[in-house]
Amino acid sequence: MSGVMCDLAIIGGGLSGGLIALAARRAQPERRILIIEAAPALGGAHLWSFIDSDIGPEEKALLQPLVNFGWRDFAVVFPNYKRALPFPFYSLRSDRFDEALREAMPAESILTGRRATGVSADGVILEDGTMISAHGVVDARGPGDLSLLDLHYRKFVGYELTLNGPHSVRRATLIDAAADPAEGFQYMAMLPIENDRLFIEDVRYEAWPDLDMTDHGNRIVNHAARFGWRIRSSARGQAGILPIALGGDFADYWNSGGVGVAKVGLRAGLFHPVTGNSLADAARTALMIATAQDWSGAALHGMLQEHAAKCWAQRDYYRRFARRMLRDMEPAQGYTVLQSLYAMDADLIARFHGMRLGWADRLALSMGEGPMPVSAMFRG
Ligand SMILES: Cc1cc2nc3c(=O)[nH]c(=O)nc-3n(C[C@H](O)[C@H](O)[C@H](O)COP(=O)(O)OP(=O)(O)OC[C@H]3O[C@@H](n4cnc5c(N)ncnc54)[C@H](O)[C@@H]3O)c2cc1C
Repeated sequence: MSGVMCDLAIIGGGLSGGLIALAARRAQPERRILIIEAAPALGGAHLWSFIDSDIGPEEKALLQPLVNFGWRDFAVVFPNYKRALPFPFYSLRSDRFDEALREAMPAESILTGRRATGVSADGVILEDGTMISAHGVVDARGPGDLSLLDLHYRKFVGYELTLNGPHSVRRATLIDAAADPAEGFQYMAMLPIENDRLFIEDVRYEAWPDLDMTDHGNRIVNHAARFGWRIRSSARGQAGILPIALGGDFADYWNSGGVGVAKVGLRAGLFHPVTGNSLADAARTALMIATAQDWSGAALHGMLQEHAAKCWAQRDYYRRFARRMLRDMEPAQGYTVLQSLYAMDADLIARFHGMRLGWADRLALSMGEGPMPVSAMFRG
């Protein structure tokens, strides 16, 4: 058994943990940071995307070097209309994420292929018996006990496809719900990468957390066929089952990830209740930690618990929005809520994604056939 000392130990080298390491190394290069990841690489197998308006300039400066692809705007397509929204859209791939972290950090700061088996506010025990003593620990190991939350799921499978010839797609498509709404609440997303290469993802919202890979794969092939494309090869698949929060008790969930231990990412409940996305939150918490002077376990826990609890409370509107869209409506009707949302003013849509909707926005959304009737806005 051996011992290691550091200022900050980050457990989990996924999106949140990796961004903390990057931001903290940049802000306080003199302090010793360790990032401990069970898998051989940092970041897993992901293509993470975000809308420019989801983040501020500081978060953008952190994410910019990691970005693989960018588009000037993005489209949404529904049975009733299609439109382009004038916000840049970016994607980052986890292999670039791993590479950037290894460039930025001293090699001895990154422990991959090492699983933590015990985590406290100021120490970590690894599977091989190594004990790490840290001024402070941040737990970024992904979800806590999700069974404590009232959940729906956003499930998706996507592939990077090389076609037999060029396609003419120029902008990213966030949602294409034009085909077969009767089959349930599902849509396609599409990111053009090169003239003959694009990423297509089949997305569906359902109440149960399992994936039918064959079904998703068939839908992707059918989607390509709709455009008359022939697929030459496919690569870089990704699949996800994201929690969509309809309700739940924040304190119980927080503690399920370790009492008294600082947490970030899914483990801290920091995700968009309707989309399940967490990249903007991950960038924000990374900067909070990086610029904090006190990295003691207690100080980090206090700061992050307060932040996450506040976010959870502020996001109640979005949980009710998700409940209305996913529980109060038939699955085949769910997409109509999005259809109404994406017909609204572009800046309001940006604020919806960035979870910055004000009262006037909520009122606008509640009018007429909008996603949330006034009566539902005030219900607990
Ligand atoms: C395929 C996919 C695509 C997504 N795309 C987007 C997107 O486009 N935009 C967006 O905003 N969100 C997206 N999300 C949602 C969300 O941003 C991701 O799930 C994000 O990775 C969550 O960040 P996290 O740090 O909480 O967890 P993770 O990124 O899952 O990181 C947790 C890490 O901890 C490691 N770990 C677990 N246990 C241990 C242990 N005992 N010891 C050491 N390490 C451990 C894991 O191996 C993992 O690397 C996506 C999710 C998935 C699954």
